[in-house]
Amino acid sequence: MAKTPPFWPNGAHGALSLTFDDNAPSQLAHALPCLDHYGLKATFYVNPGRRSDWEKQVPRWQQAAAGGHEIGNHTSQHPCSCNFGFHPTYCLEKLNLGDIEATIDEAEAELDRLFPQQEGKRSFCYPCYQSHVGAGVNRQSYVPVVARRFRAARGGGERPNNPLLIDLSYTWAWAVEGHSAEQMITYVEKAVEQGLWAILCMHGVGGDHLAIAAEAFTGLVKHLDQQRRRIWTAPHIEIADYTLRRRTELGA
Ligand SMILES: [Zn+2]
Repeated sequence: MAKTPPFWPNGAHGALSLTFDDNAPSQLAHALPCLDHYGLKATFYVNPGRRSDWEKQVPRWQQAAAGGHEIGNHTSQHPCSCNFGFHPTYCLEKLNLGDIEATIDEAEAELDRLFPQQEGKRSFCYPCYQSHVGAGVNRQSYVPVVARRFRAARGGGERPNNPLLIDLSYTWAWAVEGHSAEQMITYVEKAVEQGLWAILCMHGVGGDHLAIAAEAFTGLVKHLDQQRRRIWTAPHIEIADYTLRRRTELGA
C-alpha cells in the first residue's frame, strides 16, 4: 500500500504559527526582541489607528515587517459580540456585512500604505474569534467577506489544524493567556506528533491584557529554536500559502 507522502517541507514533522493580537506594547518590548534573538518569524495582527500610541508604534512594526514578520489585518474597529459590553451600538449583533467590510477595508488600506511589501501577502484575524453579524434568525457568517479578501484567516478553536482539512478562511488557534512554557510546549508537541499545524494566539507578553509571562514566552521560543528541524515555525500566511501549494501537489 502506498504511504502518504509527508506534508511539511524539509523533513519537518509539523508546523506552528505564533500569532499576536491587538498590537499590545508588550509585544514590541518582549516578544519581538526574543523572536529576533532566536531568528523565528511570527504574525502580528494589528488594529491600525485604534490605539492612541499606534503612530508611535508604526516604525517598530515596519522594522518587524522588513525582518520577515507578518503584519496582519485585525480590522480598524475590532468589533466583538454585544455581550462583552465593549460598546453599546458598534457590536456584532447590531452590525451588518457592510459594516464589517468597511472596518476590514479601512485597516487594509492603512496596512497597504504602511507595509506596501506585504500588500496581498497578509492574513486576517477575527476579533474575539467571532465571525458573525446580526442575531437570531438574522445572524449570518461574515467568513465569506473575509474569504473574498484573504487567502487565510485565523479564528479560535483550541485544537490544531489538519492541513488537508482545515478551512483556511477560519483556522483554529489556541488562546494561551496565563500558560506556562511547559503547557504551551505540550500543546505544540502533541500537534507536531500528529503532523498537524498548531497556532498559538497571544496578547500581552510580560504585561498588558490576557498576558503570558515573559519567561514563559522565552521558554517556548528556546524550545522552538532547539527543535527547529522538527517544528516548522513560520508566519500564518506563509504556512497557509505552503498548505495551498502542497494540497495541489498532492491532489488533495
Ligand atoms: Zn483582538
